Amino acid sequence: MNRIVLCIVAALVLVNCTRQPALSTFQKKSELMHTLVTVTVVSDSAQKAEAAIDASFAEIKRLEVALSFWTKDSEIAKINASAGVAPVKVSPETLEIARKAGFINKLTEGAFDPTIGPLIRLWDYKARKIPDPLAIEQARKKVGYGKVIIDPDVSTIYLKDKGMSYDTGGIAKGYATDRAVEVLKSKNISAGLVSIAGDIRAFGRRPDGSLWRVGIRDPRSDSEEDLMAIVELENQAVSTSGDYERFFMENGVRYHHIIDPATGMPARGAISLTVIAPEGVITDGLSTGLFVLGPERAMKILEESGYEGIAINEDRKTYMTKSLASRVKWTNPEYAPN
Ligand code: AMP
Ligand code: MG
Repeated sequence: MNRIVLCIVAALVLVNCTRQPALSTFQKKSELMHTLVTVTVVSDSAQKAEAAIDASFAEIKRLEVALSFWTKDSEIAKINASAGVAPVKVSPETLEIARKAGFINKLTEGAFDPTIGPLIRLWDYKARKIPDPLAIEQARKKVGYGKVIIDPDVSTIYLKDKGMSYDTGGIAKGYATDRAVEVLKSKNISAGLVSIAGDIRAFGRRPDGSLWRVGIRDPRSDSEEDLMAIVELENQAVSTSGDYERFFMENGVRYHHIIDPATGMPARGAISLTVIAPEGVITDGLSTGLFVLGPERAMKILEESGYEGIAINEDRKTYMTKSLASRVKWTNPEYAPN
């Protein structure tokens, strides 16, 4: 009996000696990259958490300017201004993004195409106007990944034809989640969640040791709050591309912002496409490109490459990579695969 009591006392002392200061989650929101950014971190100090979150916001702000083709003196703007004229010397960071974009272009069989800029500029969703077919034909001639020359030895990027335009819109937010996580880690934060609209990256675990859980929007609900499913993430990123983000309706047809480079028109087949992978730059680019390819080809590519994902087609049928089943909870049973 005495021995048992002693053991319990010893165990309690041990627990007490090794106990860490209490961990909590801290969260801040900011309007960056033309959308809502939410950063959540696990920390033992509100002060430390706030300083780290503010540093991650500053990094996202820096990238908002650096990666925009609207900002005149960004490297992307310089590449576009020099199209058909001369290669442009770029920073290691721009080179890295361009190489990742090239990887995603290959993986999606050309469906993700960062030279899509001339087509993107024809679509004005506020004006609700379908571009003239002739204008689309002209713009399509200025689109094509084969006309991008990246020279890693001298760190230059060259668009071969005048009028070409490099657009990082399909990949920049995911890249920014990666960079923001690096900044948080450099501030000694060991767990957190960075979310830039539909692009989210998690690292570490919540204070109770459980995995981070992220909601995927119901693609056909008018409320942004309505979820279709919740997925668990372990040191991973998740991105969802959907036809509900920017669109207008005309004669019952939805004209949205993910453009098939082969036609210049909004991609058909999928209405929501989610990718889970270790890096945000990959999930963001892939979700956009695989959306264009449609659910069936998307699932095949994800299974083959070892990434994970969920796709919903126009008949609201759900497709999912096999390994994901145990980490998804269907909050709207209508979407649960049978
Ligand atoms: P996301 O919301 O991540 O799917 O990205 C959509 C954005 O990516 C659009 O607003 C465009 O700027 C860009 N985009 C649209 N279609 C494509 C495409 N086929 N390849 C690459 N970028 C695209
Ligand atoms: Mg994307």
